[in-house]
Amino acid sequence: MVLDIQRALKNPGEKFGLFINGRMESFEFAGDTYEFIVPLELKGGYSCIADTCIIKAMLRAEVGTLCARCLSKVEMQMDILFSEEFVREADSENPERRVYAGESIDLDSAIIENVILSLPIRVLCKQDCKGLCAKCGSNLNEGKCGCRKPHMAV
Ligand SMILES: [Zn+2]
Ligand SMILES: [Zn+2]
Repeated sequence: MVLDIQRALKNPGEKFGLFINGRMESFEFAGDTYEFIVPLELKGGYSCIADTCIIKAMLRAEVGTLCARCLSKVEMQMDILFSEEFVREADSENPERRVYAGESIDLDSAIIENVILSLPIRVLCKQDCKGLCAKCGSNLNEGKCGCRKPHMAV
């Protein structure tokens, strides 16, 4: 998603409203794939002073992935406080800073990083998900499988 900041660069210090939505590609994190089920929404405001632009907005995303235990599909709605500062590319000597070039800001990598930071440590379809049987692979949330329990050590 891209924010056009032409007006804000011409009017330093002035606050502008922001409402953009758009689709984004799925992304991978720690071996799992996350997809955006519906278009993302970013709503808030921004302003630019001396080639630095500050965006404060709410990011709404619906993210889909698989349960870490039973591999069924999980959908999470996320409302994230998106507060980021971007500096003009040529002026930035600090590689840690987010940059923009020209008169628009490409928000994609900042959005994905914000979503990753808001992910739970482990995504589960429910707190007490029973997972899959290690032997036959059936989903134990749907009932017991035919496998015998391992013998208990005496
Ligand atoms: Zn599960
Ligand atoms: Zn089984």
